[in-house]
Amino acid sequence: MNFMSENINEVNNENKQASKNFIDEIIDEDLKTNKYNGRVHTRFPPEPNGYLHIGHAKSICLNFGLAQKYNGSCNLRFDDTNPTKEEQEYVDSIIEDIKWLGFEWDNEVLYASDYFQQLYEYAIRLIKKGKAYVDSQSAEEIKDTRGTPTEGGKESPFRNRSVEENLKLFEKMKAGEFKDGELVLRAKIDMSSPNMNMRDPIMFRIRHASHHRTGDKWCIYPMYDWAHGQSDSIEGITHSICTLEFENHRPLYNWFIDELEIYHPQQIEFARLNLSYTVLSKRKLLQLVEEKTVSGWDDPRMPTISGFRRRGYTPESIRNFADRVGVARRDNVIDVSLLEFSIREDLNKRAKRVMAVLNPIKLVLTNYPDAQIEELEAVNNPEDPSMGSRMIPFSKELFIERDDFMENPSKKFFRLSPGNEVRLRYAYIIKCEEVIKDDDGNMIELRCTYDPETRSGTGTSSKKVKGTIHWVSAKQAINAEVRLYDRLFNHSDPDGDKEVDFKSHLNPASLEVVTNCKLEPGLVNASAGDKFQFERLGYFCVDIKDSKEGNLVFNRTVTLKDSWAKIQKLDKS
Ligand code: ATP
Ligand code: MG
Repeated sequence: MNFMSENINEVNNENKQASKNFIDEIIDEDLKTNKYNGRVHTRFPPEPNGYLHIGHAKSICLNFGLAQKYNGSCNLRFDDTNPTKEEQEYVDSIIEDIKWLGFEWDNEVLYASDYFQQLYEYAIRLIKKGKAYVDSQSAEEIKDTRGTPTEGGKESPFRNRSVEENLKLFEKMKAGEFKDGELVLRAKIDMSSPNMNMRDPIMFRIRHASHHRTGDKWCIYPMYDWAHGQSDSIEGITHSICTLEFENHRPLYNWFIDELEIYHPQQIEFARLNLSYTVLSKRKLLQLVEEKTVSGWDDPRMPTISGFRRRGYTPESIRNFADRVGVARRDNVIDVSLLEFSIREDLNKRAKRVMAVLNPIKLVLTNYPDAQIEELEAVNNPEDPSMGSRMIPFSKELFIERDDFMENPSKKFFRLSPGNEVRLRYAYIIKCEEVIKDDDGNMIELRCTYDPETRSGTGTSSKKVKGTIHWVSAKQAINAEVRLYDRLFNHSDPDGDKEVDFKSHLNPASLEVVTNCKLEPGLVNASAGDKFQFERLGYFCVDIKDSKEGNLVFNRTVTLKDSWAKIQKLDKS
């Protein structure tokens, strides 16, 4: 796999030039030839066996996006053919996530299970045509006689059962007269086909399991390949878009529809989204949830839509990302920094700037009047004057970031140090006069003086200093817990080496919880999901699950700069 360009501008330009992708071209041609009477009808077919991830978001944006662009429609159809792995919780989360991304479907929510009866009748049609048979071989035997990619398979001894016998046995399968795995219904195609999917694929299998929608009505369940194309046909889908691993299934998709002589949609494959530093396999994500490596599907470190929502991502940023990534014909890996860029770009426009001190040290202005409180004006968003300004209190006792002070500063340290001056954002220039330490030698307080002539905006002094730092007024500050999230994996391709457990690449520093952070007082009114830029620190949002009145919890959505870019460069040199 090759990494896509790291240069985000390059990516943007590329996409602007190639605004039509190969799927657009296929659809344009179909519209020109009137192949589907001018209709464009897509679908998004999730299996409800996990939460949606960013790869699914790509597919959602593509399918719903095409419907919007061509004035067509897009169905949401659950591919619920495997009762043992599927749950209502997943159905509900998928519906919520698609709506949150900003898409709607025209029809009601559809389910492959709505078509179980029809699929059963279609199967009878194929049996009657001599194109399907009931096989009594065990799963093991079927597997062993399938052949290899280079060698054909072996025909089942039951392949030439009579139509009558097949009909009778299939009826009994449905009636529950056999145990799981005792019989299967197979298509009668070609055991010597070079395409293994065409070697008499299984259509129906027996599963005595309760289904989350059909209950115990069925004990035979259709296989994916048998359900999918026929569901597309029933719904009148025109362009059935799926990922590349189904390319080899397309001949089977076509064979079923042609043999049934029903309406024929076309399957089109595109490259699935792969992201660096990210695992996008529902099975592996489920493992992280079940083993409690993360707090749940919506853990803000998860690449799930619900995780991103909780982390503070916006639907717009995810849709922009999907646009930028575009539609490729061949597999590639997208740099996760492109996703992070998209969220920064969006929050830069919409997030209100505030001041927050995550690792506070007290600072006392010895020459500032004891009881005085000034209200200073602070700009809400320099990118957007319409967002206005707010007043923040300033007083004798403040908190600043511990990191913004160095007792023995290095040459390039322009922030606060003994005898040195810095500007307090929106306030005054101050000078550090004394460092107070406890008995163990830990710094506990900084004593400073302020220069009254240097007030931001109104001061008469023309003094200039090299550094500006943020602060909050101690008495009015409110407390919060801040969760500093970072990438869940510290390897660019955590899933790449099948010999190595992907969990060995978990980033041990993916979550740091900081308590007793000090925030400017206006944030007391922040509500769940609100998004801010903490000046100089990054973008943060109020956690939608754990934040309560009087017990504020913020999640770091993303840092202000790509802090991994440097590491990657070092890795490469
Ligand atoms: P996973 O591989 O994560 O288990 P899946 O393909 O089994 O995913 P489905 O619920 O079957 O999950 O997927 C629903 C739709 O989303 C399918 O059309 C599938 O092609 C698409 N999809 C899944 N993963 C990706 C991805 N990484 N990039 C683009 N589309 C994807
Ligand atoms: Mg799938």
